[in-house]
Amino acid sequence: MIDLDFDLKWRIGLRTACLITSTAAKFTSKITLSHGGQTANARIPCELALLDDLKAGAPCRLVVEGTDEWWAMAAVGELFTLGDFLDRCPHRDCPSTLILTDYSELKIYYACSNGHAWEVRRTDAAAVKTRLLEPA
Ligand SMILES: [Zn+2]
Repeated sequence: MIDLDFDLKWRIGLRTACLITSTAAKFTSKITLSHGGQTANARIPCELALLDDLKAGAPCRLVVEGTDEWWAMAAVGELFTLGDFLDRCPHRDCPSTLILTDYSELKIYYACSNGHAWEVRRTDAAAVKTRLLEPA
């Protein structure tokens, strides 16, 4: 079993939940996300949606257990730790919180509930990946 404690960097919206689920589905390990006594199976979007009120900055724990747990933690842990902490849409006068919608090797994609969508370049992703792949 491997666990990772982190502070959430964005809100988990439906698109974020689907992104987490599709990433978790690549592995056979059991993957759960916990916050404040609630635990969600990362393979089930509606369970993640129950954590939908999670705000950026919320302390969370990711637990991965199974035969491919190291690779699963590298991938899902990367998703949860990439980018910077963001609690508001960067568009001027927009009060909306934001969700993570996708990411690639080079960029991270975000959106807010007022219809804004934007991308940022990944800066510390390589450091995160290296840290996760090193044996504890
Ligand atoms: Zn916005």
